[in-house]
Amino acid sequence: MEKLKIEHLDKSFDDQLVLDDLSLSVGDGEFVSILGPSGSGKSTLFHLIGGLYSPEKGSIKIDGENINGQRGYISYMPQAPSLLPWRTVEDNVLLGQELSGKKDREGARKMIARAGLDGYEKAYPHELSGGMKQRAAFIRALLSPQPIICLDEPFSALDEFTRLDMQKWLLSIWEENKKSIIFVTHNIEEALFLSDRLIVLSQRPASIKREFDVPFARPRDKNLVLSEEFLQCKKTIYEELVIHD
Ligand code: ADP
Ligand code: MG
Repeated sequence: MEKLKIEHLDKSFDDQLVLDDLSLSVGDGEFVSILGPSGSGKSTLFHLIGGLYSPEKGSIKIDGENINGQRGYISYMPQAPSLLPWRTVEDNVLLGQELSGKKDREGARKMIARAGLDGYEKAYPHELSGGMKQRAAFIRALLSPQPIICLDEPFSALDEFTRLDMQKWLLSIWEENKKSIIFVTHNIEEALFLSDRLIVLSQRPASIKREFDVPFARPRDKNLVLSEEFLQCKKTIYEELVIHD
């Protein structure tokens, strides 16, 4: 079933077209990655889905209902983890629930522990490492009541080791919750490891250039990235996107 359906979206800034007749959809519980060069309009797409801007043309629907220009329908995690510095980890994580009026402190503590942040419930963001902040921000997005989570290059600032840990962790949490995720990245390997489907955007103005279904079974193990099948898949995508471009 389609959770999110975007049809024929146009968006410009100062007469410069950024999104050009963009259409895509995301299924219920599906993990979709959006790949695209820097400046192609990926964050702009999220801002439109989040209702921060309205498109000039086209529609954005959740469960069939048009949400153009309306906020509050998705949970959005921006590239820099935007934790509130004056709130503890626990109160940061509960922010999305607070805005909707129902707080589950017990559930939040469980998730904080699940994220390896045991004992940091009452800590403030400045006491956390980069990876810990990302995990806290991600839990906040996950505990928010919205059924769709938009993650904008969440791991791009992390070192390679922390990034791999975070990818594994994200998958294990998502496999328990199965919310729809839209994940923006410019890393082909990361997109392949995490997603059910890859959507590749063209240079600005962005339209859909290619889509790939990812064939790997779940749950996924980190050894997958070393398998022949994975490397073959990566090669095909590189050839289509980079070499024959
Ligand atoms: P990406 O996230 O793919 O790197 P963005 O969506 O941030 O790309 O930006 C796409 C293009 O739109 C860029 O040329 C950027 O300068 C422009 N842009 C984004 N937001 C605004 C804005 N609020 N006002 C004017 N131009 C913008
Ligand atoms: Mg961006």
